[in-house]
Amino acid sequence: MHYFSTNERSPHVSFREAVIGGQPDDKGLYFPSEIPKLSDGFLADLKNLSNEQIAFDVIRPYVNGEIPDDVLFGVCAETVNFEFPLLSITKRISTLELFHGPTLAFKDVGARFMSRCLRHFSSDPSEKTIVLVATSGDTGGAVAAGFHGVEGIEVVILYPKGKVSKIQELQLTTLGGNVTTLELHGTFDDCQALAKRALADADLSTKVNLTSANSINVARWLPQQFYYFYALKQWDGEPPVISVPSGNFGNLASGILAHTSGLPVKQFIAACNANDVVPRFLQTEDYQPRPSVATLSNAMDVGAPSNFVRILEIFGNDFLELASKLEAVSITDEITADTMRQVYKKYEYILDPHGAVGYRALADYLDEHPDGRGIFLETAHPVKFDSVNDIIGTRTAVPPAVEDLFSKEKQSIEMGDDYGFLREVLLSRI
Ligand SMILES: *Cc1c(COP(=O)(O)O)cnc(C)c1O
Repeated sequence: MHYFSTNERSPHVSFREAVIGGQPDDKGLYFPSEIPKLSDGFLADLKNLSNEQIAFDVIRPYVNGEIPDDVLFGVCAETVNFEFPLLSITKRISTLELFHGPTLAFKDVGARFMSRCLRHFSSDPSEKTIVLVATSGDTGGAVAAGFHGVEGIEVVILYPKGKVSKIQELQLTTLGGNVTTLELHGTFDDCQALAKRALADADLSTKVNLTSANSINVARWLPQQFYYFYALKQWDGEPPVISVPSGNFGNLASGILAHTSGLPVKQFIAACNANDVVPRFLQTEDYQPRPSVATLSNAMDVGAPSNFVRILEIFGNDFLELASKLEAVSITDEITADTMRQVYKKYEYILDPHGAVGYRALADYLDEHPDGRGIFLETAHPVKFDSVNDIIGTRTAVPPAVEDLFSKEKQSIEMGDDYGFLREVLLSRI
């Protein structure tokens, strides 16, 4: 097993090099040289395996012996030490709740796995590694929590000012210590562009060990497969349709990767908000990234989804293969809010805006396919989004982990869309 760049103009690297490097020099994304096939025995036995064991068995071939098995098992156990419940909302629609981790979003899984891999690989504490992450809200919190207090690691977060929720902002700005938070006057795409520029800056790389903790890092991307297996472990019957609220398309790419390894899934749905580059692509075969537009499901406000090339790669860039396994739809804010109200009224289930996009996309699909049943991923806890209370007209209970945040002080550095400033901050952290 090795990793190659989707742009195919960078050398092949090991798992360790891919984790530390983040992104290849040719600006492609690292992709595994083989997609392992899981044994029929493993798949038939899912219900009897622990979550730790499933995680270990799924990730082991990708790590290729570069982390000893006993250490890797420990990393997996720490990564998935919270619940991943599958709950049925209607007879045909279930939710896989991915918000029971420390920052209440699915990104905790990738962030926890990656931080532990980096800790293992950066065994020389005299060489600091800087983890640079651009966030639309949830990534930064998960990464900051995952790396907070880890020796030898500095975290620098970039987030778009005024475009994250109150709780997200507190999660991003109150840790202090080895976490530095930059509040950028601009959009998430601006943040991502600055981060990409720093990671590609050859001169900077001679002075700073810089890596990305965005979902392009294989150590965040690959472990997201785990909970698709946990969904199937809790599922009875024909393979499900799985609807994934999508922005940068890392989560969906992980699910499709798990399926390619043998996980039975009937159909995937890319559930998007008004940022509809992928739905348009599937209609027209024309891929046209565009500036993002702001929506209720702000963690999905991405106009140039970076992980989509991995999905193309999984299907060998065969459009028809891709189109046979993946539907993509765009859901407006109005329909998203309506869905939240309806589902609360009918089933007393509180959706967050991202989960609501996933629910709606799945419900619409099942209306057209009366024999199907499916799962949507609930990617974050509704309490993380300020809009939820207004939309459903009731208060979401605040979990204790989040209540603490309100007594903490915000620490951030405001900046313009200015690469020189970011560079100085990075150089000041070593
Ligand atoms: C990040 C995020 C998404 C989008 O996930 P991608 O892997 O970028 O497609 C969806 N919902 C929530 C709540 C998120 O934080």
